[in-house]
Amino acid sequence: MLINIPKQIKEFGAAVRQPFSYNLGENIYIWFGILWGLPIPLVTILLHVHFLGSKSLEGLMGEVLGSPMQWLFLAHPLLFGVVFGILGTIRNDKENKIKEMVMQLKEMSIHDPLTGLKNRRYFAHIFHDECARSLRRREALTLLFLDLDHFKRVNDNHGHHFGDIALQETSRYLEKQCRPYDTIVRWGGEEFIILLRATDESAAINFSERIRLGIQTELNPDLPFSMTISIGLAQYQDNDSLEDLADRADKALYHAKQTGRNKVIPWSMLSAESNL
Ligand code: GH3
Ligand code: MG
Ligand code: MG
Repeated sequence: MLINIPKQIKEFGAAVRQPFSYNLGENIYIWFGILWGLPIPLVTILLHVHFLGSKSLEGLMGEVLGSPMQWLFLAHPLLFGVVFGILGTIRNDKENKIKEMVMQLKEMSIHDPLTGLKNRRYFAHIFHDECARSLRRREALTLLFLDLDHFKRVNDNHGHHFGDIALQETSRYLEKQCRPYDTIVRWGGEEFIILLRATDESAAINFSERIRLGIQTELNPDLPFSMTISIGLAQYQDNDSLEDLADRADKALYHAKQTGRNKVIPWSMLSAESNL
């Protein structure tokens, strides 16, 4: 790899101007530099004492600190400390930049870029914790599967750009309706999942009905079209995997689509019907 000398000089200059370069308390590289340089003058003094026989402190001072060059020689561990401090500052800055980039990448990896909602990867990651939490607290947990109705027509009739805006508006609306501790994700396309903590199926039905009506009537009035949404929901049961729970909610959603759309269908209704 080619070394970019002007860039290195620029970085060095920037580090020289940073107070952190000389911060004895925080920048351990300074101490590294000092300890690196210290043995040389120490050994020199010892050799003076041993071979030249400087016994008294004044005699020793006279011999070791006799000229400005010798002063410089004795002070050079401090100069080492400064240089190491500056190099440490450069390293510190780079580490901070890398940490920041890693944070940004982590955020990007769990967010959907269009809507800013959390994505499927995030959901798979937290699902286990959410289930464990609900079991520990003996609280109900309910998953909602939401899908905008005939969304393809929105794109076909108004263009993809308006389709994107509609997805963003829907996301904002869903976020507003959820409590801070509920999880809401864009599952893909025009599909969303909401995981409601401490909510059993009947409370989740009420919540879903509110959302269903809201999407129809309360979305941004500037949108030149209205939309409807279908919602399937299922309550968490012990030892459900994400696939189990999502599959039940998805089946309920499918039923909502099959029976006319713009509906809320709980899984329990389907299972009760199939038991008849
Ligand atoms: P249904 O009521 O059965 O759900 O019908 P639908 O038209 O909503 O479902 P379908 O799966 O047929 O079409 C989904 C559409 O969503 C097709 C696709 O172009 C659109 N879509 C998916 N993701 C995006 C997106 O990010 N932006 C836009 N504008 N459209 C999207
Ligand atoms: Mg769909
Ligand atoms: Mg759809």
